Amino acid sequence: MKTFSRFAGLMADLTNGHALCAGASGGSDLEVKLAKHGCGTVSLVDPDTVDPPNLPRTYYRKGDLGKFKVDALKAHILEAAPGTTVHAHVAKVQDVLTDAYCTGPNRPDLLLGLTDSLPGQAHVSTMAVKHGIPAVLVDVHAHAAGGMVTVVVPGSPCYRCVAASRFEAAERGDAQVDLDGARGLGADIAFIDAIALKIALALLSKGTDTDAGRFLQKMGKRTQVVVRMHPEYRWDAVDLFDLVLADLPSEPRDFKRELQDFAFLACDTLWLTPDFDPQCPCCAKAGA
Ligand SMILES: [Zn+2]
Repeated sequence: MKTFSRFAGLMADLTNGHALCAGASGGSDLEVKLAKHGCGTVSLVDPDTVDPPNLPRTYYRKGDLGKFKVDALKAHILEAAPGTTVHAHVAKVQDVLTDAYCTGPNRPDLLLGLTDSLPGQAHVSTMAVKHGIPAVLVDVHAHAAGGMVTVVVPGSPCYRCVAASRFEAAERGDAQVDLDGARGLGADIAFIDAIALKIALALLSKGTDTDAGRFLQKMGKRTQVVVRMHPEYRWDAVDLFDLVLADLPSEPRDFKRELQDFAFLACDTLWLTPDFDPQCPCCAKAGA
């Protein structure tokens, strides 16, 4: 039986696909799963080593402690998905994902931004826009009570447009601009990573008559995916889900209350169509 026979008709053959992943911590499970779905080449970029607090919610094990994350994860991917080509870069993404890299023989088909670092995520988005490479950026918010998956593709607003408040905080000189990824349940991180992986497989299946290819087509311009794991999730003091539900009529039935009762409004997603920031210095839509 062929290795990927269980995916027949569901997604593209990714043997020749190359995904570059910035960050190999909370996203390590996702990176292994991407390879297990058949992505032929996975490039891992992360400068850090495996510490004890990583063990409960990443793919790493006791024997990995003290090793560079990308080296340990490369070994795990080769074990879990034999046949994958894995490139391990002990570096920041800014030092690997250069113009030369994006135009050379290793040009990736997909970029994954899986880091809490604002400069790291911003760089992935900038290079995605500049070189027309699809990107998926995962942000975990509020101790993983919620988060956001941003998709940057040609013609969509960039990460700078969608996550403007993070960039504004950096421009104001706020001390805390990187996301606080220190706390958060593995269950919640797995949930947001599953959404990101689903989108990644869809992007890599673009144009194919497969479930994943049609998923992408139906997704259309919904490139800002707000993910809520906990019913109390707020971000920037706003409950986006409440805002959406506020439009529902209360007569002849109270649809908002019914949804709150029956859907619980946890472990769910909002698929938003973000606006371009006319002032955005990154995605060349200024003045458009
Ligand atoms: Zn932009």
